Amino acid sequence: MIRTSLSNLIVLNLAAVLGGLTVLWTVRVWRERRRERARTRHQVVCAVCGQVFEDPARADTVVTCPACGRLVERQAVLDL
Ligand SMILES: [Zn+2]
Repeated sequence: MIRTSLSNLIVLNLAAVLGGLTVLWTVRVWRERRRERARTRHQVVCAVCGQVFEDPARADTVVTCPACGRLVERQAVLDL
C-alpha cells in the first residue's frame, strides 16, 4: 500500500481534474475550428459588391460573381 497524505491526494485529484478539463476544452476548440473551416471552404466573397456565394469547384482561382458578373479572386472568408 502506498502511503500518502490527504493534501497530496487533494493536489493530485485537482491536477487530474484540471488536466481532463484542459484536454476536453482543447478537443472542443479543435473540432469547432475544423467545422468552421469545412463550412467556409467553398464560400467566395465578391470584392466588388460584397456578395457571399458558394462555389464548390476548387480548381479555378478566379470565379464569376452571380450577382454582378465580375470576375472575383478567391480569398479566405473572415468572420468578424
Ligand atoms: Zn459581385
